[in-house]
Amino acid sequence: MPGYKFKGEGLCDELFAGISQTLDEAGVPSILWSEYLLTLYGVPTVYWSADFIVPDDKISTAYEALREAGFPECSQFADCRLCDKTSRKYWPVPPAHLHRDDFEVISLFKKSETLWNLSSFEVDRSNGELMFASDPLLPHTKQGVGRMTGFAPDLHPVRIPTPAYGTEAVIKLSFRDEEVDYAWDILYGYMAEYVDRSDILDSQKDLKPEFRPLMRWLNSTGLTPAEDINADGKCISKLAMFKKLEDILKSQNELKPPLV
Ligand SMILES: [Zn+2]
Repeated sequence: MPGYKFKGEGLCDELFAGISQTLDEAGVPSILWSEYLLTLYGVPTVYWSADFIVPDDKISTAYEALREAGFPECSQFADCRLCDKTSRKYWPVPPAHLHRDDFEVISLFKKSETLWNLSSFEVDRSNGELMFASDPLLPHTKQGVGRMTGFAPDLHPVRIPTPAYGTEAVIKLSFRDEEVDYAWDILYGYMAEYVDRSDILDSQKDLKPEFRPLMRWLNSTGLTPAEDINADGKCISKLAMFKKLEDILKSQNELKPPLV
């Protein structure tokens, strides 16, 4: 049904689908991101915001469309928890946000600052980048806790990164933000702990080869000798493993400089 209007609902599937619908109808493709995305992968986690990635040049169009759909603008300004960098120390401050209530927010992030090498906002399963939140494969819960289904198929489609593409993205973000100590390592740690080796993610097949030793190390399944032993016959340390991955990604021009 066209013309979604925000009616004060909580952070639920209907709200996320309504945001995606509003943005699509404004000509702004969007991708669900952050903690609520983790719940779709089967991670039992809390969430305090609705975070979406949009094209860089569509941030203001997206903001205006959501404002017209009824989401309140921020009235707290410098006191808003989202803009206060002393309290907002675990996540980047989004370039634009609206509110669901005084505490919970709708955040808009730029593609260039999150999924910078995304080839398209269209879901094309052949490139392995995006899927829909209603995909019947989702979620996979190894613990039997957390949500048990993806979005209902009759809701407006919501794009999400595939588990493999999303995992690689947050690992790359952890390198970009290593001086800031954002919580990207917690996100890919959750992927290793709760999602890897499930029906929706096998890091040793689905991730690019350079990312696999890190996920293997996180899962404590042991590295293969060829990758784990250096020329002196010593085990590669965690630090050396990160450095090796960082050097590979830099050589591929896959990393971005820190945000200023
Ligand atoms: Zn605010």
